[in-house]
Amino acid sequence: MSDPRVLVVEDDLELSAQIRGHLEAIGCEVICWTEGHHVAEDMPPDVSLIVLDLGLPRVPGMVVLQELRKASDTPVLVLSARQETTDKVEALRLGADDYLTKPFWPEELQERVRARLRRPALQRADLLKIGALELDLVRREARVGERAVGLTRVEFEFLFALARRPGAAVPRRWLVNNVLDADLEGGERTLDVHASRLRKKLGPGLLETVWGVGYRLAAP
Ligand code: CA
Repeated sequence: MSDPRVLVVEDDLELSAQIRGHLEAIGCEVICWTEGHHVAEDMPPDVSLIVLDLGLPRVPGMVVLQELRKASDTPVLVLSARQETTDKVEALRLGADDYLTKPFWPEELQERVRARLRRPALQRADLLKIGALELDLVRREARVGERAVGLTRVEFEFLFALARRPGAAVPRRWLVNNVLDADLEGGERTLDVHASRLRKKLGPGLLETVWGVGYRLAAP
């Protein structure tokens, strides 16, 4: 089998060279774009994964992502200096499979890339269905069976974070960093308050606590 081909889209040349080194070290063939391109015109063949910066000259990262999702299912790992929850949620909603914030540890990048190359593409519809639970990502509505569940913005994002990988525990620290508003809300205790409200709204058997780790959504 040939080496998996990874497209790295990063305008910082030094960082781009570093990423190339990290990925070649784990057996990837790396192609680098140093600005955003229109995917329909320029996409190289047989790309197994795209590592995508958001702040890019020419074509912004979010546009690259959007165009890509219209054309293909190639997994996308967003690598961005943007820390705001809204950027992460928007990137995930547009179909990114993972989101890593700069600065990052090389080992973490390598591990995420390895994991992504192993895994099949995630569910990537506007509607996520996990057992009786349905999440409408466009209208930002949740249902359990026939029952509509009114959720706050944070509760919806919390649930969405878990719903992307049903059955997998999502660490509390990740949830605090990615779901809560950093400037408005506190840490893990605030998260637990949201979890307890969310659990009440959803009813029993969906949101599970994984002691010492975080939370997960029961796999159907
Ligand atoms: Ca950039």
